[in-house]
Amino acid sequence: MPLPPDLPVIDHHCHLSPGGQGVGAARRFRAAGGTHLFLATQNYDGRPPATLDDYRRQFETTEQLSQRVRAETGVTAYVVLAPYPVDLVAGAIALGPDGALQLHCDALDLAGAWVRERRAVALGEVGWPHFPTPPGIAEVADAAFRHALSVAREVDCPVVVHSADLDAEGYRSLAAEADRAGVPRHRVVKHYARARVEPAAACGVVPSYLARRELVKEIGDDPAPWFLETDFLDDPNRPGAVLDLTTVPRRAAALAEAAGSAERLWGPFVESVERVYGWRPVPPGAGET
Ligand SMILES: [Zn+2]
Repeated sequence: MPLPPDLPVIDHHCHLSPGGQGVGAARRFRAAGGTHLFLATQNYDGRPPATLDDYRRQFETTEQLSQRVRAETGVTAYVVLAPYPVDLVAGAIALGPDGALQLHCDALDLAGAWVRERRAVALGEVGWPHFPTPPGIAEVADAAFRHALSVAREVDCPVVVHSADLDAEGYRSLAAEADRAGVPRHRVVKHYARARVEPAAACGVVPSYLARRELVKEIGDDPAPWFLETDFLDDPNRPGAVLDLTTVPRRAAALAEAAGSAERLWGPFVESVERVYGWRPVPPGAGET
């Protein structure tokens, strides 16, 4: 069953690298039926930035990739920017905890400025390293996350959270953190959600689900907002380490096939973007400039 031509088909979290398949991966996404990507920045040269200028160059690389994706494949790529929380680990060794936090906050301010200038649509990934860290790092990450929320409140944009898997208590504390910062809960997205969370248990925080086949079947009827993502890494050294960029369009087609209708796909692909980002994704083929 073909998907409706005006339905956006969206991967809500991926990375592309100039050293990997880059635009070629977006071309495969398009060929599989995908129309929009949320393109998150990353460290492109394999080591964490040591200066704010390093972060600026990193963000520029992401922006250039998004422009090439749009020009060369017709896929709309929304830019998502932040210093990666894991950068704090190496940063604390190189610059000391205070220096690492300062650089991180400066980079968050820069990302916020880009959102204000409409060069990016969200702050991400922000949060905490997903593995045990040396003493003191968790506190630095907490402070960095609070700063991220304050920037998000100021520029009125979503935050895309990187963290270990969350249980109900984890979602609750994330919601409480958003409340304290004055950020609406529906502006907080838990990226890389690997298990279904009961809509009520998410406490208003929005899961972005990894598009694994079984998980997609479980969540297909959940009320919006929720997203699908691959977290595609585009790392030539780790082929197959993550879901391929063609996964979301393939899962979308399977969901529509199973239901005999694409009706439910408007939830993750349109309503959720409207709710979380505050605007409607431009329908495919609508000739956005
Ligand atoms: Zn990611």
